[in-house]
Amino acid sequence: MKAIAVRPGQPNSMHLRDIPKPKVTDVADGRGVLVKVIRVGVDGTDKEINAAEYGAAPTGDDYLVTGHESFGQVVDVGPNVPTTIRPGTYVVASVRRPGSSVYGKIGLQDFTTDDVYFERGINLLHGYLTEYYVEDFQYVFPLPANLSEVGVLLEPTTVAEKGVNHAYEIQRRLKVWEPRNACILGSGTVGLLTALVARLRGLELTVYSLPTKPYRNADLVEQLGGVYVSSQEKRLDAVAEERGPFDLIFDATGFSPIIWQAAEVLGKNGVLVLASITGGDRQAEINSDKINQGFVLGNKVMVGTVNASPNDFRSGVDDLIKAEAIYPGWLGQLLTTPIHGLENHEQMIRELTENREAIKVYVEVASNGRRDG
Ligand code: BGC
Ligand code: ZN
Repeated sequence: MKAIAVRPGQPNSMHLRDIPKPKVTDVADGRGVLVKVIRVGVDGTDKEINAAEYGAAPTGDDYLVTGHESFGQVVDVGPNVPTTIRPGTYVVASVRRPGSSVYGKIGLQDFTTDDVYFERGINLLHGYLTEYYVEDFQYVFPLPANLSEVGVLLEPTTVAEKGVNHAYEIQRRLKVWEPRNACILGSGTVGLLTALVARLRGLELTVYSLPTKPYRNADLVEQLGGVYVSSQEKRLDAVAEERGPFDLIFDATGFSPIIWQAAEVLGKNGVLVLASITGGDRQAEINSDKINQGFVLGNKVMVGTVNASPNDFRSGVDDLIKAEAIYPGWLGQLLTTPIHGLENHEQMIRELTENREAIKVYVEVASNGRRDG
């Protein structure tokens, strides 16, 4: 079967190749789920993998099948798979797998302390940009059929879910935390999905990002009842003056200097969540005394977050269902840039690296069984 792969270490090595089709019995103890891939989303991580800045091949292979944002339909299940997953069920598989740390043993490999981590489509494990994959049922999450159009957004949604869920988890320290006001930094896919998740938690919403209006992503923020502000028009301290204090600030910009400005304007008892993976070596001058004093006297928290746990996948599914009910059609507007077929991987990389208007670039690997009967 066809797959899109790279040769890690070799820039721009993305290519189509033929790999063996997996079988449900490839997973031991009757726990296998064989999935036909329908759609796969791509993001900045895939861009870095193709640039050979990130990613590694599985031991013994000189290539890595890419793609970590999956959506597919079950075609076969082993005898020990629970009945919540049956042939025909739409599913999304998670990305990270256990290594040797204790967190993998309790199903929370997103918290691994190992230096080496295993992520499908990213690091040491093949991904989903192919026709079929097989996986242990514990890593496969079912979605209702009414999410068949937008289910490919679940994996990036789980990144937002983990950050927001953990903000609430951390704030249990306060006994009473009644957040009102969220500020999301960045309006790419993760920024927009975090804005949605914050809104679904009942928070007032400000999104702060580089581009000026008119801007499709700003319209999407306004459709959620939020306010969009361009960083070219207003400094973050002025935004906080007008729209704050912010109980929750979530960074998804990819521009690390902004987190120190965010730390400075965060409200008392507030949480600043950092979710940008910044591979560079940028430095920043910061108001060290001011930030420190604000954190001490205001009992503030700054926390990093990566990947997601099974709980974040489940709350992600719930939020996608809610989003379709409360903001019908909103999620679909994120799916701006379809690529038809694995063969068109060159166009996929072009859209990903050059198309500034694109929100989500994704590959239509196969037609959706439900629509085609
Ligand atoms: C993925 C995460 C992953 C992270 C680090 C992101 O693009 O969505 O699942 O943990 O990259 O590799
Ligand atoms: Zn990703």
